[in-house]
Amino acid sequence: MRRNWSDTVDLAGSESRPGSAAEVSELVRSHDSVLALGSAHSFSRVAVTPGLHVDTMRLPADIHVEGTTATVGAGTTYAVLGRELHARGMALAAMASLPHITVGGAIATGTHGSGDAIGTLSSAVTGLEIITSDGTTRWVRRGIDPDFPGWVVALGALGIVTRVELEVEPTYDVAQTVFAGLDLDLVEEDFDAVFGAATSVSVFTRWRPEPDAQLWLKRRIDREGAWPGGPAFGVAERDAPLHPLEQLDPVHCNPQLGQPGPWHERLPHFHADFTPSAGDEIQAEYLLPRVHAVEAIRALRTLHARITPLLHVTEIRTMRADDLWLSPAYGVDTVGIHFTWHRDEHIYDVLPAIEDIVMPLGARPHWGKVSRATAEQVRSAFPRWDDFAGLLARVDPAGRFRSPFVTRLLGASG
Ligand SMILES: Cc1cc2nc3c(=O)[nH]c(=O)nc-3n(C[C@H](O)[C@H](O)[C@H](O)COP(=O)(O)OP(=O)(O)OC[C@H]3O[C@@H](n4cnc5c(N)ncnc54)[C@H](O)[C@@H]3O)c2cc1C
Repeated sequence: MRRNWSDTVDLAGSESRPGSAAEVSELVRSHDSVLALGSAHSFSRVAVTPGLHVDTMRLPADIHVEGTTATVGAGTTYAVLGRELHARGMALAAMASLPHITVGGAIATGTHGSGDAIGTLSSAVTGLEIITSDGTTRWVRRGIDPDFPGWVVALGALGIVTRVELEVEPTYDVAQTVFAGLDLDLVEEDFDAVFGAATSVSVFTRWRPEPDAQLWLKRRIDREGAWPGGPAFGVAERDAPLHPLEQLDPVHCNPQLGQPGPWHERLPHFHADFTPSAGDEIQAEYLLPRVHAVEAIRALRTLHARITPLLHVTEIRTMRADDLWLSPAYGVDTVGIHFTWHRDEHIYDVLPAIEDIVMPLGARPHWGKVSRATAEQVRSAFPRWDDFAGLLARVDPAGRFRSPFVTRLLGASG
């Protein structure tokens, strides 16, 4: 039976591995209950179906670049796409922390990296080729289909995306510099300066009372140059590479120490050649309106005695607002507060306390990570939820792609 990457979710259902869009179409026509599957990296139950999983990873990558648009097979990983785009002199604006996930799976869940001016990975999408519930193929495109913002972050519920059109730009180099021993007091006091210090910034913490945070600055060489040297926010630049979990060997991390390199080998923290099998971890993340981030951090620090013993590490990242209905950054500049937990059931005792803090501040739980939020809470965090439900009802009236995860969210409105 197929399980997710962390071996914490039974994905149920049966599985097929089509090698072409025509095969996908045939599978959709011949099965009543179908759901796309990417690299199965989600921690939530978003990829569970009692029906047929259509594993997209054998679909051809078939990467085309024309001007500032790239088209790619939806089951392609960002590792492959990054390498190929760079070889053709092009780049994406954003990458997640690791490149092993598929384009189709990442954009369906609003996956993101970090950067005040950088949108989610989903926000780079300009078009989708999708097999809908009657088995026919259609393209939906930004600027042409008025409901396009509903189609991208869609949790697999609108059909099987077979190709994705993405906005790209000329390739660029990035240098990353890591600082350790940062005080969260400074992050609270100077949040905008900290996250404005580089194109892409991450703050890692274990929420210990002492200054335990790491600051990762990823700077675009063409725009801001590498870190000029010297301390940042009172802490010295590291002179040896560091893993976000300080006790681990950074051998699988992309080069640090201000050494410039191509965007796809610097924006993700971990490099593509390292294939993590299953990790001893469960992830949760809450995406908050940026204006409430400091208030949330301050309140979460009071829970450190409950959080730290169960936690590998927290990562705090920023992202620019977008217009995608189910995006974690819909309509508002956003801050992600992420928790990589040990695989320990006790985390489910702590999540409600965290959610009591962040949900009233307008947090949206990450679609691909665990949460204890109710369907009602989740729906009310997305102002365009009813529009999405309407789109679902129009595009897939019989619920061929309706997973138990989406059915639960729809509640009475489904
Ligand atoms: C180690 C690790 C690091 C991570 N880092 C980050 C990070 O930095 N930032 C972040 O935001 N998230 C991160 N995540 C979460 C991850 O990005 C999401 O869970 C993402 O959805 C995983 O992509 P996938 O290809 O594995 O999708 P899957 O888990 O296989 O599927 C997720 C959803 O997408 C749908 N889907 C997949 N493919 C298609 C398709 N072709 N057409 C339609 N729907 C489709 C599925 O039906 C399902 O609903 C991380 C996860 C792990 C395990």
